Amino acid sequence: MKTIFEKIIAGEIPARIIKRTEDWIAFYDVNPQAPVHVLIVPTRVIPRIGEAADSDSVLLGNLLLAAQNVARELGVTESGFRLVINHGSHGGETVPHLHIHLLAGRPLGWPPG
Ligand code: 5GP
Repeated sequence: MKTIFEKIIAGEIPARIIKRTEDWIAFYDVNPQAPVHVLIVPTRVIPRIGEAADSDSVLLGNLLLAAQNVARELGVTESGFRLVINHGSHGGETVPHLHIHLLAGRPLGWPPG
């Protein structure tokens, strides 16, 4: 069974794609929680951060750099942004395909709800 994000990566489901490489894709979240809400998703499925392995370290680093890169391209580096990874039910995870949320465009409250 493909995850919804694998279907987006394969082009089977439309998405507003910002950028893609062999290793990751960045696209706008369909249900934005901030004026800028982008998902950075590895093309290779790791279900969730708690299941990442030592051998995933390069990919994980590249995802953070990708998020930083997309933030700069969208012009939110100066105003600020937040990166979020949800793990498991208490973490709010709904799609079992690791992804980083990039949220920006308004002051974000802390602590999160
Ligand atoms: P999670 O809750 O797992 O951390 O985040 C999953 C995110 O994926 C949610 O913010 C949700 O709005 C987004 N999402 C779910 N289905 C789709 C879809 O089909 N297209 C896009 N662009 N985003 C989706």
